[in-house]
Amino acid sequence: MKIQSRWLLASVLAVALAACCCTKKSEQGKSTGYPYSQVPFTSVSLSEDSFFGQRLKAAREVTIPLAFSKCEETGRYRNFEQCLSPSPDYPPSGFPFDDTDVYKTVEGASYILQTYPDEHLKHYIDSVLDIVGAAQEKDGYLYTPRTMNPWHPHPWSGMHRWDSVEVLSHEFYNLGHMVDGAVAHYQATGSTKFLDIAKKYAECVIREIGPGEGQQVKVPGHQIAEMALARLYVVTGEKKYLDQAKFFLDTRGKTSIKDIYTQSDKPVIEQSEAWGHAVRAGYQYAGMADVAALTGDSSYIRAIDRIWKNIVERKYYLTGGVGARHQGEAFGADYELPNATAYNETCAAIAQVYLNQRMFLLHGDSKYIDCLERTLYNGVISGMSVDGGRFFYPNPLSSDGKYAFNADGTTTRQPWFGCACCPSNLCRFIPSIPGYVYAVRGDDLYVNLFADGKAMVETSKGKVGLHQETSYPWNGDVKVVIDTPVKGEMTLKLRIPGWVKGEVTPGGLYSFADGKKTSWKVSVNGEEVPSAPGADGYVSIRRKFSSGDRVELHMDMVPRTVVADEKVEDDRGRIALERGPLVYCAEWADNPSFNVHETPLGERDFSLVDDYSISNTEADGSSFKVTAIKADSKDGKSLVMIPYYAWCHRGAGDMEVWLKK
Ligand SMILES: [Zn+2]
Repeated sequence: MKIQSRWLLASVLAVALAACCCTKKSEQGKSTGYPYSQVPFTSVSLSEDSFFGQRLKAAREVTIPLAFSKCEETGRYRNFEQCLSPSPDYPPSGFPFDDTDVYKTVEGASYILQTYPDEHLKHYIDSVLDIVGAAQEKDGYLYTPRTMNPWHPHPWSGMHRWDSVEVLSHEFYNLGHMVDGAVAHYQATGSTKFLDIAKKYAECVIREIGPGEGQQVKVPGHQIAEMALARLYVVTGEKKYLDQAKFFLDTRGKTSIKDIYTQSDKPVIEQSEAWGHAVRAGYQYAGMADVAALTGDSSYIRAIDRIWKNIVERKYYLTGGVGARHQGEAFGADYELPNATAYNETCAAIAQVYLNQRMFLLHGDSKYIDCLERTLYNGVISGMSVDGGRFFYPNPLSSDGKYAFNADGTTTRQPWFGCACCPSNLCRFIPSIPGYVYAVRGDDLYVNLFADGKAMVETSKGKVGLHQETSYPWNGDVKVVIDTPVKGEMTLKLRIPGWVKGEVTPGGLYSFADGKKTSWKVSVNGEEVPSAPGADGYVSIRRKFSSGDRVELHMDMVPRTVVADEKVEDDRGRIALERGPLVYCAEWADNPSFNVHETPLGERDFSLVDDYSISNTEADGSSFKVTAIKADSKDGKSLVMIPYYAWCHRGAGDMEVWLKK
């Protein structure tokens, strides 16, 4: 069996450009159980020239077509094809989780289909699913590293099913990504083609793994199935999936595997610190939140409350990234936050967005969205070049251009990796960004992120249509306009970000060093209204809105210097620069006469340079615009600082987030 329509970048570009944003589908199925509801990304459309609108366009036109072509080129599809006629001659190659790159790319492409209907893309996905389905064994097992060659499976897979699932085989990890991809595909197309495949594999796992007689008691070596199975329950209403997710969580720490690396050193409800592999950890905590929301198990919530505090107060980079150590791709000890050797895997940053969104949905506090925003604008999007075609696996905060921080020996963004988890994770994450802009509870509508674009939001009083006009993050002015109001009163809740209230991160791991006071103002139809946020961090405007009503938020957005807690050894005597949600850095290309590692930042006057052009010489040399910050010292020498996410588009070289004081 062959892929029917080989992926042609040019034709897809043409189709994507011609497509319009029209079809809207709401999420199907049961409630997620959370007290607050995310407004699905299908109900929110960002303007194409807005900050994240441009990212979505890059994902649609470049990242996803690139990932599909890499799946072809690197034999990911061939792995499925070889399962049709297994042979002892097939060499086990790649990683035993290579199948997930296919699932994640299908997931991202399905998200695109929900807002940009595209028959060519739909048919291409269909042909991919034909070979995926054909590789499934009769009883539902779907894992190409074994099925293609059961005599000599991949060395990480173990001789028999599940032998190595708690360590290296990733059989349950593959299930998790398969389910996520399948649900997305089902919601985009209404077709159960992928969903049926995923349910069949889930049922195989449920049959063979569990506490009953004849079953094996095993937990995932790499978490994600917990989140995915909870989602499968929400979509299908079939409780066995939720039960299996809960079994995986409740059994963790009670099987043969007990180590910090996989967060199995103790039962999940007894955990208090973030340890071990940072992606596994983040996915586990997000899964605990999902299962807690659906089952009401508050012991999970108490555990993730403790863990979240541990991360944000002790193990959190200024960029919102996590995972200090290359060794084990892992969290370090408290305050262990080296800059040049920071791991900060792109996938771990995505996991932090998942976790913080869920913490908000549980508690309704803006501090979680503050963290989500920090990670999103810095630690996540630094993982992808602005054109969408090159990726970082680790995201360090300092570089000399020589230390090879990628596992493949490179110091620049690459179009793909042997272990391609980060590019394919971005495929599915970037198109979902509009889903983080709004949330709702009853007739309270939360404006969590500031992004130019429109939305239709379901509240308890009916649908409300609204749009935002803003150039955020380049300035702090946001206008929310109600286009179609609900009958009667409702509350619009505006998040007042930590950065304008004088708080860098909750708990004080980082703090502002310049003593500046920034303020904000809120007005309704031009008349100023009280702007003190409530205990939840939001300004609440309750009224009967009419069509055309304008709520305006002005936030002072000025360059601010930041210091870290003295306990962070690597940031001692150093200072960083932020403006609004963006962390800034000094890079060689803008500062040819400086050594950015040695030049002090303190005692400078800051001024903004709007429309500062950065030439993307790593790609086609076209340029993109940012607001840079010029830092003038008394001797007339100016440093130019650019947003952290924008670094390394002009080749490897020196970069520093934490400059000398
Ligand atoms: Zn990754």
